[in-house]
Amino acid sequence: MTASAPITQDVLTFPRKLPDGPANLIGLTREQLREALLAAGTPEKQVKMRANQLWQWLYQKGVRDFEEMTNLSKDYRATLAENFVIALPEVVTRELSEDGTRKYLVRIAGGHEVEVVYIPEEGRGTLCVSSQVGCTLTCSFCHTGTQKLVRNLTAGEIIGQVMLARDDLGEWPEPGQGPEDKPRLLSNIVLMGMGEPLYNFENVRDAMKIAMDPEGICLSRRRITLSTSGVVPEIARTAQEIGCLLAVSFHATTDDVRDKLVPINKRWNIEELLEALKEYPKVSNSERITFEYVMLKGVNDSDEDARRLVSLIKGIPAKINLIPFNEWPGAPYTRSDWKRIKAFADIVHDAGYASPIRKPRGEDIMAACGQLKSATERARKSRKQIEAEAGIGNGSA
Ligand code: SAH
Ligand code: SF4
Repeated sequence: MTASAPITQDVLTFPRKLPDGPANLIGLTREQLREALLAAGTPEKQVKMRANQLWQWLYQKGVRDFEEMTNLSKDYRATLAENFVIALPEVVTRELSEDGTRKYLVRIAGGHEVEVVYIPEEGRGTLCVSSQVGCTLTCSFCHTGTQKLVRNLTAGEIIGQVMLARDDLGEWPEPGQGPEDKPRLLSNIVLMGMGEPLYNFENVRDAMKIAMDPEGICLSRRRITLSTSGVVPEIARTAQEIGCLLAVSFHATTDDVRDKLVPINKRWNIEELLEALKEYPKVSNSERITFEYVMLKGVNDSDEDARRLVSLIKGIPAKINLIPFNEWPGAPYTRSDWKRIKAFADIVHDAGYASPIRKPRGEDIMAACGQLKSATERARKSRKQIEAEAGIGNGSA
């Protein structure tokens, strides 16, 4: 896609029910689950209770075999097994970084692959979840942006990433234990893996509803952060229908520079984006918006940029997350020097905003922010091509 090509979201989503196979229960909303049980012959007056029971087995206890669902009759378990499967994406490889970060390469239906990253921290752990295979957007500093989008993930494939990470971490409760009885290794979710979550809205919403459900994965909405490049029309809907925290890939303080770094800016510019963000905390009643700002040497990292940034976001409850650029082979940018990042952070901080500098994690296994890219499509665009699309030419980076 060239930088001027239309930005599209008309990508395929894989159906929940394979044409020749039973339906997967993972990822169905409560309502869809009830409908599916009814269609499979569950008596109407039992449907609600059965759906609740199943929900707890699937999402609270991590059970994958109908035979283990001991509060269901033998006959009913057989009916379920005839009509449904409990299927998660398949883990192809797991890489472990020196710093404890884990990167999973996961295969989904159709043979496509996405990456999922678990980042352990003191007393908590964050799972970075993918929402699409590749991305239709072409941010010039992002490795995922060089990969052609293959398709949207289903809700089951999105919540499935959380479930397979819990499998690997061994943190499903023991029989008799409730969801709060153990400290959570996987305590936070960030939608910052591959893809633009707001171009796959319904599936992301349905998956996050399961993550937030007290009888589901049971994470507070304040422990879930959705990161968008700036799909303005979907921002209010995110507040209303998901209600999680929001991060926005801001990255530049003039439209000119943002057009090159985050080309969706040509569709919805900085002013329109800020308008939508101003409304967000009001609608969702949530905390501050995180402004992500990748530090690119000589491109967006001057003192003037820092001052412009704080004046632009005036009036928006915000925290500015400075991300040292994670380099990838052939990238047309380099990381700002540490001193520069620090000077930028100080200006933002002195203006009254929290300005944490994100510590790069999992760099040795290419698991750091913006480095994810499926092994199915390693063929990269050339550096020249990337530069041409970014409109930065000259090979100067
Ligand atoms: N598509 C969404 C979410 C996925 S990207 C979005 O763009 O917000 C998650 C974050 O990583 C975004 O802030 C993105 O701008 C940033 N990112 C992408 N490539 C990066 C890189 N090479 N180094 C540092 N951050 C990067
Ligand atoms: Fe897509 Fe986000 Fe990467 Fe941009 S930064 S190409 S929106 S994944």
